[in-house]
Amino acid sequence: MLDGKKRYNIFSEELKRVFGCRVHRISVDAGFSCPNRDGTVGNTGCIYCGGSGSGSFGIIRGASIAEQLEHGKEVMTRKYKAKKFLAYFQPYSNTFAAPGRLQALYDQALAVEDVVGLIVGTRPDCLPAATLDLLASYARKTYFWLELGLQSHLDRTLSLIRRGHDFASFVRAVKECKARQIKVCAHIILGLPGETREEMLAGASILKDLGVDGVKLHLLHVMRDTAWRMNICGEG
Ligand code: SF4
Repeated sequence: MLDGKKRYNIFSEELKRVFGCRVHRISVDAGFSCPNRDGTVGNTGCIYCGGSGSGSFGIIRGASIAEQLEHGKEVMTRKYKAKKFLAYFQPYSNTFAAPGRLQALYDQALAVEDVVGLIVGTRPDCLPAATLDLLASYARKTYFWLELGLQSHLDRTLSLIRRGHDFASFVRAVKECKARQIKVCAHIILGLPGETREEMLAGASILKDLGVDGVKLHLLHVMRDTAWRMNICGEG
């Protein structure tokens, strides 16, 4: 807070400003994999990633995109009296398929009543030009965000957590998105081993200078059945 004013904009307030009402995200699992798990760039995944991909809680696996959204709508409406929704393609890398398949899945989500936009989560090294062009077409026709996992701007940390890409890869991806007017939200983990307070604060300035449109901050937590827990904590 600065003089009683926040120094950041809250996403829920941005949604209220754009849509005039509360808008809720519904996470969906489109059955993707991840280049850092299937052997494309690595086969063990990020050190903190559970076997079902990050952010996969509460999703009905095996159901179609439309079924998952209808279920999510029912829950959100009952709990929060929500009226509008964003389909959030969250677990794994949601651009890791040919553009034709991506388009079919994204269109299925937008065809569901009261779904007013898309959020697509992915990795910076999973964005070939044809995919970026497809995402840009959604940025033009609907409310659209691309969520890009970075976690740290420090290559030594990216190597430690086995991200399978470096910071330069993230910079390239953001520039490609900015050139196509795609809104980018960067994911960062605070509290990664060996990072100082100054380094974490420097990360905020670096993201600002790059021109990312949003930041999602995660606090580090180590989950059961992840490589981190088993290798670093010696469990399993
Ligand atoms: S990029 Fe995401 S899905 Fe892939 S290994 Fe890392 S956390 Fe898991």
